Amino acid sequence: MPGNCVVIVAAGRGERMAGPQGPKQYRDLAGASVLARSVAAFCNHRQIDRVIVVIHPDDLALYAAAVPGHARLLPPVFGGANRQASVLCGLEALQSANPAFVPDFVLVHDAARPMVGAATISAVLDAIKPGRGAIAASPVADALKLANPDLTIAQTIPRDALHAAQTPQGFVFSEILAAHRAAAGKAVSGLSDDAAVAQAAGMAVVLVPAPSANFKITLESDLQIARQMLGSFLPDVRTGNGYDVHQLEPGDHVTLCGVKIPHNRSLKGHSDADVGLHALTDALLGTIGDGDIGSHFPPGDMQWKGVSSDRFLAHAMRLVRAKGGQVTHLDVSLVCEEPRIGPHREAMRQRIAQIAGIAVERVAVKATTNEKIGFVGRGEGIAAIATATVVILGPAK
Ligand code: MG
Repeated sequence: MPGNCVVIVAAGRGERMAGPQGPKQYRDLAGASVLARSVAAFCNHRQIDRVIVVIHPDDLALYAAAVPGHARLLPPVFGGANRQASVLCGLEALQSANPAFVPDFVLVHDAARPMVGAATISAVLDAIKPGRGAIAASPVADALKLANPDLTIAQTIPRDALHAAQTPQGFVFSEILAAHRAAAGKAVSGLSDDAAVAQAAGMAVVLVPAPSANFKITLESDLQIARQMLGSFLPDVRTGNGYDVHQLEPGDHVTLCGVKIPHNRSLKGHSDADVGLHALTDALLGTIGDGDIGSHFPPGDMQWKGVSSDRFLAHAMRLVRAKGGQVTHLDVSLVCEEPRIGPHREAMRQRIAQIAGIAVERVAVKATTNEKIGFVGRGEGIAAIATATVVILGPAK
């Protein structure tokens, strides 16, 4: 069975970021290690069949703790004295891993580029041809200066044709394995990347434009930037639900979703008994885990007697916003036999939007009967269920 495989090089010691938590590829990056994120980017890619990680012999316990298993992930192998030697260790392991699996293309990737995107992986794979490798690269944006030893500028280098090499770097598996074996056989070491190994073997290598977001984590500040990027990539979306019911009693109107509707009964309650706004208030409080309507507005508290329920919804909105929450949707369903809701639906949406301070397009009001069964069906009460959707701004914690 032919397939595409990946060698992730993670054997480096990361001297520029050495610390008590081990090499940089084992550092935490928004809830997962740098290495685990790199591994996941390939294991979860539909065009990838096998992934192998090359690690330092000292890091076996770190690896076991930092990288969750995956059906496409092979056991790690130990690397060599430098990056070039480590890549060859990974290629040889893939070659001998499973006789039934014939690697077709291989991508070599640095563990310290955890932000690699699926589109970049696909683009590099698609650009590989027999005799021609392909590497992710980004055009150089900064002006380049060649410096004298005293850091005065000796020369400005034209940057028009210059690109910064990234990974993944992809090749026909058998070709790059032969190129690495040839380089090792000639005792050529220290080639900076696999493109250089391929070129030393006479292969062509094409550049595939990749976003600068696929940067290499080298310094502590790079880790901070990656954390911020991941925070913005993973919006903190919350949904909360709410339910309320009030009894019907003799009267002349009901207030539902902030709209007063003439009726031959009224809803019984401490406030105006607006089940729609009460359910929405609980749904909003649910998104921030801040109790419920009863804990904020105790039924025994006389100051809430007979008040309009828009105050409850507005209060919940303030609490959500104080937590950095942005309300993206409010949805409420009213369950009653009477009165008919349809004629008042748009007025209810407008009123909820007005109280909540959001666009009416972000509010839904629905209604159903209870098919004449149960307490709602017998006309003893009206019920409401609601869902609030809130995005908490800032990085997910
Ligand atoms: Mg209530």
